Amino acid sequence: ARAQIGVTGLAVMGSNIARNFARNGYTVALHNRSVGKTDALLEAHGGDGDFVRTETVEEFVAALEKPRRVLIMVKAGDATDAVIEELAAVMEPGDIIIDGGNALYTDTIRREAAMAARGLNFVGAGISGGEEGALNGPAIMPGGPKESYESLGPLLESIAAQVDGTPCCTHIGPDGSGHFVKMVHNGIEYADMQLIGEAYHLFRDALGFDAKQIADVFTQWNSGDLESYLVEITAQVLEQVDAKTGKALVDVIVDAAEQKGTGRWTVKSALDLGVPVTGIAEAVFARALSGSRAQRKAAVGLASGTLADKPTDVAQFTEDIRQALYASKVVAYAQGFDQIAAGSAEYDWDLNPGDLATIWRGGCIIRARFLNRIKDAYAENPELPSLILAPYFREAIETAIDSWRRVVSTATLLGIPVPAFASSLSYYDALRAERLPAALTQGQRDFFGAHTYERVDADGKYHTLWSGDRSEVPA
Ligand code: NDP
Repeated sequence: ARAQIGVTGLAVMGSNIARNFARNGYTVALHNRSVGKTDALLEAHGGDGDFVRTETVEEFVAALEKPRRVLIMVKAGDATDAVIEELAAVMEPGDIIIDGGNALYTDTIRREAAMAARGLNFVGAGISGGEEGALNGPAIMPGGPKESYESLGPLLESIAAQVDGTPCCTHIGPDGSGHFVKMVHNGIEYADMQLIGEAYHLFRDALGFDAKQIADVFTQWNSGDLESYLVEITAQVLEQVDAKTGKALVDVIVDAAEQKGTGRWTVKSALDLGVPVTGIAEAVFARALSGSRAQRKAAVGLASGTLADKPTDVAQFTEDIRQALYASKVVAYAQGFDQIAAGSAEYDWDLNPGDLATIWRGGCIIRARFLNRIKDAYAENPELPSLILAPYFREAIETAIDSWRRVVSTATLLGIPVPAFASSLSYYDALRAERLPAALTQGQRDFFGAHTYERVDADGKYHTLWSGDRSEVPA
């Protein structure tokens, strides 16, 4: 037994992570259900470092130093359960099983408890960064027992992305917390992508820019406050020319977005936790709407109204879109961090939002200059009631607010859908409102269901005798 880590599941993610471990000087045991992938990896990249080829699970486990550390990188869901079971049958108390797939956090909670009962340490680790990140440095969000992080942490930290000398990996918290924060990370990613998509739509349909012109704007934005991986790749996608037609590639791609489920999970969880993640929800629904191809086809030609006045000051509207994007992005992150706080409270995880901002600065899909500001905001005040209230973001929104309103109103007049820009602005306006119409909602609920209400000027709950003399009684 000489390998420090084993990787089972050698599709694109697993093989790149195995290579990353090997390149960092670790001896890596390799295993895949079908041995073909193991051999393909060794043939193409065996020179990356020290690998141990294994065929059976028994051989694989026997190749590992104790306490054994096995990283599972297989298809999320039943496949993960099957592989865990096979491993657990031959592993010993104190060994560590790490699930690096995109597991649903409630599955991770269940698996962790089952493994703990058998004396095994189970670590659900969210891994972000896609194929490229897996090879060159992903962001890693490991949950599970703290003790296991002592033996596992140094390995994970050495293969993670590094920003200013700090690894993009830290122990997140107990059981499912790592996969939970990875899920919310993906939800934020959905919102960020939707917002960028809406900005693109406005350039295309409100200003009449072609893909190359829009690419240039994003390239320019990437050298300012919006600097991020997603803005950078947006420019690259928009610049891409289709070899077959000579058109911009984006103009020949079918406009129906797909999804694998992590955004949907984020919204479902937010609904259960009662956290308004409106930006993320709009992003998930926008993908669903884009995918309703038959309905959309039938609806083409519906009236758009006659109020279409295109913006005349191109430079001003370009800056307006930039500001709207930034402000809406602040809202999306604020909502995501609210969900993390709510999850932490619900499951007793004691999560540290500043840690997440720190490890999301590199490696992952939502990496952005912006995350430094979030990290600073939580360092200054770990108890921030909302990210929007951090002085830096508060001022940024104050600067953006008129632009943000112009973008949403112009889009609305022109009939260009901006669900994420608009709902983020409404969220902001609702959050800062002194009086919401919820007072009326409470009155209606009391009317039809005797659900009672509180008064602004007295403690306790009250009910009006709506079907009687309409006097008020304490509830
Ligand atoms: P896939 O999700 O496509 O999974 C393929 C791997 O799973 C293969 O090694 C396959 O083995 C194995 N597998 C499937 N079913 C079983 C089973 N019943 N028993 C044993 N092994 C099985 O691979 P990816 O590399 O794309 O992703 C791996 C994990 O990482 C997934 O959970 C994914 O959600 C997650 N992830 C992916 C990212 C990405 O960018 N792709 C980013 C972050 C996380 P075989 O070769 O024998 O078929």
